[in-house]
Amino acid sequence: MDFALDEQQQMVAEMVRSFAEERVRPGAAERDRTGEFPHEIFAEMGELGLLGMMVPETYGGAGMDLLSYLIAVEELARVDAAVAVGMTVTNSVCCWPIMTFGSEEQKTEFLPQLASGQIVGGFMLTEPNAGSDAASLTTRYRNEGDHWRLDGAKAWITNGEVGRFFICLATKDPALGPKGISCFILDARQDGVVFDPPEAKMGLRSSKTCMVTLDGARVPKTAMLGDEGKGFAIALATLDHSRLGIAAQSVGIATAALEESLRYARDRKQFGKPIMEHQAIAFQLADMDTEIDAARGLMQRAVWAAGQPGRHSRESAAAKLYASEMCNRVVGQAIQIHGGYGFSSEYPVERFFRDARVVTIYEGTSEVQRLVIARALAERAKAL
Ligand SMILES: Cc1cc2nc3c(=O)[nH]c(=O)nc-3n(C[C@H](O)[C@H](O)[C@H](O)COP(=O)(O)OP(=O)(O)OC[C@H]3O[C@@H](n4cnc5c(N)ncnc54)[C@H](O)[C@@H]3O)c2cc1C
Repeated sequence: MDFALDEQQQMVAEMVRSFAEERVRPGAAERDRTGEFPHEIFAEMGELGLLGMMVPETYGGAGMDLLSYLIAVEELARVDAAVAVGMTVTNSVCCWPIMTFGSEEQKTEFLPQLASGQIVGGFMLTEPNAGSDAASLTTRYRNEGDHWRLDGAKAWITNGEVGRFFICLATKDPALGPKGISCFILDARQDGVVFDPPEAKMGLRSSKTCMVTLDGARVPKTAMLGDEGKGFAIALATLDHSRLGIAAQSVGIATAALEESLRYARDRKQFGKPIMEHQAIAFQLADMDTEIDAARGLMQRAVWAAGQPGRHSRESAAAKLYASEMCNRVVGQAIQIHGGYGFSSEYPVERFFRDARVVTIYEGTSEVQRLVIARALAERAKAL
């Protein structure tokens, strides 16, 4: 078994780390305060190939493997989780379904624009009354001759307001359940798509998350993704893939929390010695480090599973569940190690604590991940 990164993965790790340190870290705390979206950083990420990392080079992407992409997410999240989430959304839930399920024409039309960073992408699944139970969505589509017409409301849409192409799920008739759902590539730059002002969030404050109303939104006939009625299956396959991006984001935030804690515990003296030399603190640091490694290991195993034939729902769910819960435990410990200073916005762990809170919620809550794992266990039980 070889855990060493190959030459390309090593190169990605080094390149993204230096980009994150030089270009992303300097404004991270300020963007957290102002909530300003980092347009310039996204343009630079496009130039570096970070917005279409797995998109084949023929469509303008970087043509890299899944692990390289996750390494990049981890490096960005280690510095600014809000930048990381915008990057994962464009890569995992916009480019990936187009490159996996799109027609040749769709790949040629949409992928180069997304991969170059000219345009930011997104994913519209959640609705005000359809979150974990996404199959109960009620946004309707209708055939209007030369185009599809979409009407409804979508909630919590990342890259809302700043994004242009969104993968959008809508139903022909809610009574049909998952079989009625189809998937569309929606151009948000039109009168029928109206974003509300961004949500005032606890964390990831420079990432724009919006409610959006679709009122007669038009999608060209050529922009249905996959076959009619297969939209829900596309959404589930996309989430199996994209949840690994959230696992990587969680590992990145936790790594940053550990590094800040090591620095602080080395320098802070109480009772005549660095607090790191008090065994209670040293053991917390040891647990944090071990948990981060365990999460990364589950993620790498899921990357392997993703390369095998068939679905990898259980492996992705396990990686996302463990990594996101681990991340929240680790940032909590980081605050504790910082004592009163951890409660102050002068120290970055306070931002990590707020940014981390959402990783057990989006792209499927921890409870939903447990449902996915429990379903696989029920199958296993039948075979015992
Ligand atoms: C910052 C942010 C960005 C987001 N970005 C996007 C995006 O770009 N695109 C998009 O489509 N969505 C996005 N979302 C939405 C996100 O995926 C949903 O919030 C999430 O799936 C949960 O749905 P909900 O908020 O409606 O909670 P609900 O589904 O109402 O759940 C509420 C609680 O009930 C629990 N629960 C629900 N059903 C069950 C059950 N059967 N068993 C046990 N417990 C259950 C949940 O786990 C949760 O604890 C984003 C959310 C946030 C906060």
